[in-house]
Amino acid sequence: MARRPVIAGNWKMYKLLGEAVETALALKPLVANANHCEIVIAPVYTALKTVADRLEGSNIKVAAQNCSTETKFSARTGEISADMIKDVGCAHVIIGHSERRQFFGETDESVNQKTKAALHSGLTAIVCVGETLDERESGNAEQIVKSQLVNGTDGLTVSDMERIIIAYEPVWAIGTGKTATPEQAQEMHGFIRQIIAEAHSEETAKNIRILYGGSVKPENINDLMNESDIDGALVGGASLEAESFAKIVNYR
Ligand code: PEP
Repeated sequence: MARRPVIAGNWKMYKLLGEAVETALALKPLVANANHCEIVIAPVYTALKTVADRLEGSNIKVAAQNCSTETKFSARTGEISADMIKDVGCAHVIIGHSERRQFFGETDESVNQKTKAALHSGLTAIVCVGETLDERESGNAEQIVKSQLVNGTDGLTVSDMERIIIAYEPVWAIGTGKTATPEQAQEMHGFIRQIIAEAHSEETAKNIRILYGGSVKPENINDLMNESDIDGALVGGASLEAESFAKIVNYR
């Protein structure tokens, strides 16, 4: 079965509620005919319910940008569980974004726990992996990505793996305007598929969607999507404006 592309927008800590709704509503007609891919946007927590309600019945799904490792109601001040995210109308959650790893101490272990929590609540987990510039320049990129992947997906069953999406986001390409070349991205995506085949199964590796993230724009999406192991994009900056995100969604 062909892998259905996914184009996801990560709005990070941008947009007040009114702006989030405005962008979501502006996006809706611009991508209404995009049947070739799944479309996901990830606003801040405080906008999730309103945006999800306003997009109900459309082809745009809503994601949270993080969730708690905890699955039960518990004394965890400031945390939001995967059940709560599902409850407000989300279908997806982004886990282990490099900004969470860098600024909030996210580890492969917490990524693993959060991924399991997300799946337990019926969400699709978009699990992010990617090396820093230092790690790439010292020749350790593959090793880092391998350990993030293997540890992050440890203990997941075959059916769990059907409900996760991997996002390869080289940290040096995020928000820097410096995109990995399609060849560099393809090389790592091929490697990721190989690691998943070893750690899980050939079938899982063949079916799993692997998105590229890092300065994706309307100008470079086509070349990236032409690569055989690139199944979509996780887009930061260029997803904040409806017009540019729509151009990425409508890449073909
Ligand atoms: C991201 O935040 O996941 C991202 C890829 O950002 P940008 O597209 O701005 O590089």
